Amino acid sequence: MGIEEKLPAGVLLTSVEKLVNWSRKSSVWGATFGLACCAIEMMAAGGPHYDMGRWGMEVFRASPRQADLMIVAGRVSQKMAPVLRQIYDQMAEPRWVLSMGVCASSGGMFNNYAIVQGVDHVVPVDMYLPGCPPRPEMLIDAILKLREKIMHEPLGPNGRKMLQARQERGDVP
Ligand code: SF4
Repeated sequence: MGIEEKLPAGVLLTSVEKLVNWSRKSSVWGATFGLACCAIEMMAAGGPHYDMGRWGMEVFRASPRQADLMIVAGRVSQKMAPVLRQIYDQMAEPRWVLSMGVCASSGGMFNNYAIVQGVDHVVPVDMYLPGCPPRPEMLIDAILKLREKIMHEPLGPNGRKMLQARQERGDVP
């Protein structure tokens, strides 16, 4: 009897998926990309006091090609939106977006023609973080929650959609 017949269906694929997701979530590198006051808290989170290096993500990369996570830290002006989209497009898959603060998520108090009313009009957002500004601990908490999501993301081009369906069914957090 071959090993395929002895093992329950999908067990090998599940194990590979877990291993890949574990390595992905253990080295989420952020793109160096600050837009407004929220970016100061993001920089503080990367400093020695908060020490994001504990989760393998102390390095912020200046090149989008080397980054997995875009933290949109601050309000997005209409002029900045195409630049933000271009940086996102330059990031290799798999990539994630964290909307940091009320301005990035919804325009916040800047309800005017100059500011994009939510960065999800420009790029898909994986995690929203409320606050004005969110403290570094809150950012770290959001990243840890994003890591949980990464851990449950099926491999392949439709992984994100499948994760969403699993979440809607209540199979994963
Ligand atoms: Fe600045 Fe507050 Fe807006 Fe963040 S949420 S960019 S701290 S005004």
